[in-house]
Amino acid sequence: MKNIAIIGAGSAGLFAAKLLSSYEDVKVTVFEKAKNPGTKLRASGGGKANILNANVKGDCYNNHRFMDAFLQRTGYQTIYNEFSRMGLRMTVDDENRVYPATLFSKTVLDVLLSNLSSRVSFRCECTVKKLVHCEGKWYVNEFPEAYDNVLMASGSPANMIAANRKGIADYWKALHLDDKPFEPSLVGFKIKDYPKELYGCRAKAEVSLYQESTLVWKEIGEVMFKEDGVSGIVVMNLSSRYNQLKNRKKCRFSLNFLYDDEAFDVKAHLSRFHDLAGVLHPKLNKLYQRKPFDLRNFTLAIDSLYDMEFAQVCAGGISVDEVTDTFELKKYPGLYAVGEMLDIDGVCGGYNLFFAFASAYEAVKAMTHGH
Ligand SMILES: Cc1cc2nc3c(=O)[nH]c(=O)nc-3n(C[C@H](O)[C@H](O)[C@H](O)COP(=O)(O)OP(=O)(O)OC[C@H]3O[C@@H](n4cnc5c(N)ncnc54)[C@H](O)[C@@H]3O)c2cc1C
Repeated sequence: MKNIAIIGAGSAGLFAAKLLSSYEDVKVTVFEKAKNPGTKLRASGGGKANILNANVKGDCYNNHRFMDAFLQRTGYQTIYNEFSRMGLRMTVDDENRVYPATLFSKTVLDVLLSNLSSRVSFRCECTVKKLVHCEGKWYVNEFPEAYDNVLMASGSPANMIAANRKGIADYWKALHLDDKPFEPSLVGFKIKDYPKELYGCRAKAEVSLYQESTLVWKEIGEVMFKEDGVSGIVVMNLSSRYNQLKNRKKCRFSLNFLYDDEAFDVKAHLSRFHDLAGVLHPKLNKLYQRKPFDLRNFTLAIDSLYDMEFAQVCAGGISVDEVTDTFELKKYPGLYAVGEMLDIDGVCGGYNLFFAFASAYEAVKAMTHGH
């Protein structure tokens, strides 16, 4: 009987546990610091869980080269088929985003937790603080059980308040792996000299991220104006591009509210109607009356990203140079690292959950090879 420990009952850990459950000669213990498994999975996609993207591509992630190579081995269809086999019915929207057909994240969690064999057991409210390697076996905290393999799937501190982030990475930090500090990603931005009267406004625009005069990335979508900054999917995606910049000084957004109407003549409209009430959100119209701005280049100077507790994922984590193609640590055979704890993060659209599931899938395949 092979004995496997999984650290973290999140998206990657639960997917791995479900896959391992069908091997009769494998025993699994899942260690989870929280009271219940799958907290982030349940919160995903605003409670709908955008679990995959049918058009997943390497350039939607921070490390394009690693992801391009990985996607050659494990693509979208493989993970879609695994979920189908588990009994999950899925629906794909017109932007290739895949959801459970119920549009309810708990369905995914229920599918992962249902019909698990008795060989899979959970130790919840148990934070892994120590991993020890001794004579070819692994030991967790002070427990006496010896494990042949350990799957580290403990995620990142994204979306956690400071108190909950403490100590979650201590056990793998002690392994002295090459890693980058975690930073919030898929998150909004605080803006310098922010026009506070825009709080509560939502407006569709083409949003361009500039570093000084260089265009970094642009995307169209709805911008949400918060108390002291901006958010929304388009802005969160730009946070992922922002995190990839070496120099983040003097970065700004340029919002084009007329991206779909090149011919629109603001001056002519104003001389006829005297204001932009029929063109802009009322709060933007009011701001324009107080302080006119270029509707095709409304500039917002970036102050900083919002804090970790508002982020959907983290940039940073264990370098992918530390792992083999099957996510086994090169320095520690038998130990695997998957999901968000690795330095891989994608934009919004199902890419992050896809990576959590797909990396867990690869690791499970390697751990069960020959079983
Ligand atoms: C609000 C929100 C919405 C999101 N929406 C989407 C979406 O729609 N689509 C998408 O693709 N992605 C989405 N994401 C991102 C996605 O949820 C994560 O990328 C994904 O869950 C990461 O999976 P993981 O298994 O690596 O980590 P997690 O799912 O975070 O699991 C890690 C688990 O390990 C546990 N743990 C941590 N440290 C320890 C320790 N030392 N000992 C024991 N247990 C430990 C944690 O408590 C946790 O349960 C969203 C994230 C958030 C926060």
